[in-house]
Amino acid sequence: MQNFQPEEVIVERGSEASPIYRNLQRSLPDVRFRVVDDIASANGSGDFGSAKKKLYLAKHKGEFFKKCPGSEGQVCCNYFVINFASNCPMDCSYCYLQEYLADNAALKVFSNVGDLIDEADATLKKHRGLFFRIGTGEITDSLALEPFTGMVREILPYFAQQPNVLLELKTKSDCVDGLLDLDPKGRVVVGWSMNPQRVIDADEHGTASLTERLNAAKRVQEGGYRLGFHFDPMIEYPGWEVDYAAMLDQTFATIDWRKLSWVSLGVLRDTPGLKRTMRERFPRSQLLTGEQVVCPDGKLRYFQPLRVDMYRKMVGWIRRAAPTVKIYLCMESREVWQQVFGFAPSCEKELGNQFADFGF
Ligand code: SF4
Repeated sequence: MQNFQPEEVIVERGSEASPIYRNLQRSLPDVRFRVVDDIASANGSGDFGSAKKKLYLAKHKGEFFKKCPGSEGQVCCNYFVINFASNCPMDCSYCYLQEYLADNAALKVFSNVGDLIDEADATLKKHRGLFFRIGTGEITDSLALEPFTGMVREILPYFAQQPNVLLELKTKSDCVDGLLDLDPKGRVVVGWSMNPQRVIDADEHGTASLTERLNAAKRVQEGGYRLGFHFDPMIEYPGWEVDYAAMLDQTFATIDWRKLSWVSLGVLRDTPGLKRTMRERFPRSQLLTGEQVVCPDGKLRYFQPLRVDMYRKMVGWIRRAAPTVKIYLCMESREVWQQVFGFAPSCEKELGNQFADFGF
């Protein structure tokens, strides 16, 4: 992965007592730290790319724990999210954060870790009969900032002890060193977003290479973590089949698929607004040229027959190497599920129950 180091760390006054502040100071001895009273006015202006160069440490004032919003009309996988940071030091050309965080692009990590754990604890204790699959990578990459913030090291021991949780750390980095001496107790999945090296080179700027991701996956698997792979967003281009089949071969030759918790598939999704931003920021991206149609949730996707064909091929290649691994589709309609698998979950509860089966 390309080395990332923030140019400056801007700290909201009051956050100096946080363990994250101590971790940042220890890991970034040569970087200037500036303590400010008003973090909002210190945000400054600048484009989305320059916002990724400074790191802010501030108290999160809203709720940490919430249900994944999903996408209207698509089968929901009953996922919960905890946002411990906002924005990402890497820079994929298709990243939806370019639109979602357009007005709040600062690269931020939250200092009040105790509040995060208290909030999660209240919910998890109240609903011991429910199974929670919790992700931390909705508006950030779960591990890319870990070498500096040590955030996952702060929260993982709590989640590893909960009987009704699988915590997923989703990443395109290879920043796993800080995880290896922790005991995940079977409750933590490290999930990699995967694409062939050709797509990584073209559109996943600053991320770890395919080989680096797989080597990191092998290391955490050996350290007792469960693994997930998200082949998402799948990109269609002439010859995509050769690259994706080769990527799957490399994946299943590197890790033990029998300890794989799940695999998800999803095709490129964007919106007209995101496409405008991509055109400005990445005018040469191959993603701007493919044909897409507007779906009922307002998102642009490849034409349905093409999506079904891509999913069926991927499922066939995966099944060849890993016959019983659990595969699901991310943000797809029941119609597409039906055509790919011959069934569709009747409701999100059913899919949620399947995930409970995946984990236990
Ligand atoms: S790694 Fe994820 S969060 Fe980071 S830029 Fe890429 S898509 Fe966005």
